[in-house]
Amino acid sequence: MSQTRHILVVGGGTAGTVLASRLSESPAFMVTLLEAGPDDEAYDAVVLDPAHAANAWAGAAPIAPSPMLTDTGAIPMFQGRVLGGTSAVNGLATIRGLPEDYNGWAAAGLDGWGWDDVASTFIAAECDADFPHSPIHGHAGPLPVRRWRFEELSRAQRAFYNAMVEAGEPAVTDVNDPSQLPGVGVFPVTIDSQDRRVSTSLAYLTPEVRARENLNIRTGAEVVQIEISAGQARGVTLASGEQIDADEVVVTAGALWSPTLLLRSGVGPTAQLQKYGIPIHADLPVGATLSDHLGPGIAYHHDGPRGGSAGPAQVLVLGASDGRNVDYHAFPIASAPSEQSTQFMMAAFLLRSSGAGSVTLGDSVDAPPVVKAPPMPDDAVPRLRHAFERIAAWECSAAARSLGCEPVEPLDLHAPDAVERALERQVLSYGHMTSTCPMGTVLDADCRVLGVAGLRVADASVMPTIPSGNTYLGCVMVAERVARKIAP
Ligand SMILES: Cc1cc2nc3c(=O)[nH]c(=O)nc-3n(C[C@H](O)[C@H](O)[C@H](O)COP(=O)(O)OP(=O)(O)OC[C@H]3O[C@@H](n4cnc5c(N)ncnc54)[C@H](O)[C@@H]3O)c2cc1C
Repeated sequence: MSQTRHILVVGGGTAGTVLASRLSESPAFMVTLLEAGPDDEAYDAVVLDPAHAANAWAGAAPIAPSPMLTDTGAIPMFQGRVLGGTSAVNGLATIRGLPEDYNGWAAAGLDGWGWDDVASTFIAAECDADFPHSPIHGHAGPLPVRRWRFEELSRAQRAFYNAMVEAGEPAVTDVNDPSQLPGVGVFPVTIDSQDRRVSTSLAYLTPEVRARENLNIRTGAEVVQIEISAGQARGVTLASGEQIDADEVVVTAGALWSPTLLLRSGVGPTAQLQKYGIPIHADLPVGATLSDHLGPGIAYHHDGPRGGSAGPAQVLVLGASDGRNVDYHAFPIASAPSEQSTQFMMAAFLLRSSGAGSVTLGDSVDAPPVVKAPPMPDDAVPRLRHAFERIAAWECSAAARSLGCEPVEPLDLHAPDAVERALERQVLSYGHMTSTCPMGTVLDADCRVLGVAGLRVADASVMPTIPSGNTYLGCVMVAERVARKIAP
């Protein structure tokens, strides 16, 4: 007689909602999804209206602040704390990364994660309104995808796009088509036919899915500990003190909170856990290899309204500092709409990371974790010089001049030390924290925690290296593939 397996999914964010939806397709599982924040009824106009997404970053939506420390100060950062997680408050950009990222994972011995494996998952997850018949896009997946229309762009974004084309940057119609890169293009985004944000909870936890008898979604349910004994995860304890037993626990609390929960539960570096008197179940480098895309931000302003109805990420240069291989994104981050003078940030994010950031426990076991940003890669300066040439070309373009774009604090982008000076002034994070419980050192290729039975991780934490693109779609892909590994 077959038995129903009870699976606890801890964290109803980007990956957790996808995983809970897919697992509950099988009657062999009873799935309980535990989310610390509220249900997606908590979404308001700030969350749903892409143009106002930047206001979510000012704390208008349910978020957990998590500043990243650097040698020169803290980079303000946060994670979504609501069903849908950070997919409910991010910049909506829907980018896959490059084939060589995933082929690198497979080459490191992680079977099933090469480009040929993951590409089909990216395709199956999307319903692309612009390229429904393309062999590299899907037309029947849960995530509606389209690119911003030119008339939806803000005035600064249009000026940037026009200036880059004028400067000779190839115009790319599909930034998810590696054969077209490098070049300048428009961000694909996950929005519906009413131009409203579609988080992963809206896309995957539809009323039909929520009606399944084998799926229990609990919000306001913060997990404080994974219960482990004799090398086996047995369940979890909530902040309320309630204990829930399970056959398997899958942690999907995000790149900052998944490692924190593992550390608090006795899975992590022995030296760190001993300091807190935490009993050790597995000595693993949890939290020791945080990656992110970082780069300088240069503030500009122009007079008059922002214009357009698109979100914060609208157009971008996918640049290649060696002329061939894309290794940075440069773009103006659109502010929320305003009628008067508009300030925006010109960012240049490096797409590879030193991977030497960290998440460690704070002053006490219960205190928020300490998040250290990865130092910039060793070759950051020459690569960013290439990006600065593009930004300088935009600065003196007819498009930027006619809009009256001026730096808030003057900076000669051609100066030999321009990159260093910009980095001294302000380093930005793309918000793409990954790799804090990576496959290879903390997890096996099926995302099982090494040395603890019945325990997996399945979110941004598991990525062995950071992809060369925005990370939300990669988290969807990870969750889709882990669901298949659990329920083949
Ligand atoms: C400002 C910003 C902008 C971004 N813009 C983009 C973009 O435009 N495009 C893109 O691709 N990527 C973007 N990203 C990154 C991307 O959104 C994330 O990489 C991705 O959403 C992370 O998904 P996740 O499943 O790992 O974690 P999350 O989506 O953060 O989910 C984790 C969930 O776990 C819950 N949780 C945490 N701890 C517990 C606990 N103890 N018990 C129960 N529940 C818990 C949280 O409340 C949350 O819902 C952005 C990130 C930020 C911060």
